[in-house]
Amino acid sequence: MKPEKASHLYNIRHSLAHMLAQAVLDLFPEAKLGTGPVTENGFYYDFDLPRTLIPEDLEILEKKMRQFVKQNQFFVRRDEPIREAKAFLKTIKQPYKIELVDKFIEQQGIKEVSFYENVRESDNKPVFVDLCEGGHVDNTKEIDPQSFKLDKISSAYWQADENKASMQRIYGVSFETAEELKAWETMMAEAKKRDHRKLGVELDLYVLSEKVGPGLPLLTPRGTVIRQELDKLSQEKHKAWGYSYVTTPNLGDLGLYRTSGHYPYYAETMFPPLKDDETEFMLRPMNCPHHIQIYDAKPRSYRELPLRLREDGLCYRYEKSGELSGLTRVRALTIDDAHIFCTPEQMGEEINRCLDLAKEMYDVFGFKDLVFTLSLRDPANKDKYVGTDENWNKAEDFLRQALKKRGMEFKEYLGEAAFYGPKIDVKARDVLGREWQLATIPQIDYNMPERFDISYIDEHGTKQRPVILHRAVYGSYERFFGLLIEHFGGAFPTWLAPVQVEVIPVAEAHRDAALDILEQLKDAGVRAELAEPDLTLGKRIRNSEGAKVPYMIVIGDKEIASGKVNARSYHSKQQVEHDREAFIGMIVAEIAERRLPE
Ligand SMILES: [Zn+2]
Ligand SMILES: [Zn+2]
Repeated sequence: MKPEKASHLYNIRHSLAHMLAQAVLDLFPEAKLGTGPVTENGFYYDFDLPRTLIPEDLEILEKKMRQFVKQNQFFVRRDEPIREAKAFLKTIKQPYKIELVDKFIEQQGIKEVSFYENVRESDNKPVFVDLCEGGHVDNTKEIDPQSFKLDKISSAYWQADENKASMQRIYGVSFETAEELKAWETMMAEAKKRDHRKLGVELDLYVLSEKVGPGLPLLTPRGTVIRQELDKLSQEKHKAWGYSYVTTPNLGDLGLYRTSGHYPYYAETMFPPLKDDETEFMLRPMNCPHHIQIYDAKPRSYRELPLRLREDGLCYRYEKSGELSGLTRVRALTIDDAHIFCTPEQMGEEINRCLDLAKEMYDVFGFKDLVFTLSLRDPANKDKYVGTDENWNKAEDFLRQALKKRGMEFKEYLGEAAFYGPKIDVKARDVLGREWQLATIPQIDYNMPERFDISYIDEHGTKQRPVILHRAVYGSYERFFGLLIEHFGGAFPTWLAPVQVEVIPVAEAHRDAALDILEQLKDAGVRAELAEPDLTLGKRIRNSEGAKVPYMIVIGDKEIASGKVNARSYHSKQQVEHDREAFIGMIVAEIAERRLPE
């Protein structure tokens, strides 16, 4: 999370952005400065430069920044009327800053702007000046020169507008102490090791094929085992919570999406329509319209509500190829989707049930510190949304109250709602403390029921409009799978592991005995595999370790004589001797309870 404005950390990072700009100007006197905000881990600054930066530049710039920090520079504020400010920016040849001043005038009607000058303590010499609203340390001696570093370079459009100039963005990371920077670096190194794009391929869980196309990952047999375990968990929970499963095709008449409002408003996020002689079809971006047709296929009574329709629905999104990434940004995704059709009176209870079910499922994976956010409509941009003000206000307030009643802390975000309704989003922290967007539980929708004109008959025989709650717990199987690979670092709990036990005969002579126990394990429903004695014993043990198989048992003369097994746990690194039956019973129980590694 980004530090609060004016907090000490914010001030440090923002001051370092000034140091970076100063260093860049020192290296490239003709550099044009963009903007330099504070970020979650540090800061960045955008520049228009005479040449493309190379990684070596970062070292030079970093060195200069340290030098400036050690000069004990202090910040002096200067307010200037617009005209003088613009004239000054012209003399120092900073056209982007002039554009910024014009933007402030237009947006905020300001009459004055502020500049901050950096003054060197030793000789009181001003060394750098920037257009800025403030939020600095008083003196750079408050900054530990070892508590920051320049991290990477990327490109960005000025004001995030593709039609404007392309700038070079330099990212810095910064903390209050050198120790915190070190801890962050360790965390990043660990995150790199856990990167699902690397680990997913190493562990043979999925592949990307250029012949199939970008953003279309293919799950291997091992990956599919995990996917099926996730399915199984989801089905068990949803059936217990009163959901009915449905099955619908992932293509639909274009008219369906005109009615829902997806088309043409969200056309750029969908693949273009497919045509035959008479009809245009869409690869569906969402499952809701299909589920609504199942609801609407016959007259509904209040007695049937709430009706909870659940499907693992394959959907398609047209993500730009540059934004695709492993399993987490894809073009075909399976949403663990459900639509709850209910009366307005049932909504509160249903929202609670959605949150309870989600919590129950996240607990299985050991996700801690769930973070809730309430995504609202942007009132300044109403044409991006369908539906009336009244319905929007009602739905937004309902979700707010539901979170408050549960005593949950949450943040509200304007402009983050879907076009048909506000929603609660859940983020979880993984073992490295990183936040991941999980799912939407739920989204209130008064609008699609109206657009599709669906109804139920209430207890007085009167026709009424139901409400739809859209919700997903995993979000998409693909994304959730990617997240799990990183969360567990590929060392899945036994219930999820593609191979749960690796049986390793010491030599050819022990193969039959190994096969015997392999069969016994398989009969008990355990996913066991034999490591054929073609390679050396040491090599096979290392392979099993590398594949992060939860249990490894080695069968040699000693085990055959005693009838016992020596099982080594990947997670605990303990080697324990068991009776055969006891070992099988133990592992079966561990799987059945979906136990997490200690
Ligand atoms: Zn500043
Ligand atoms: Zn939906």
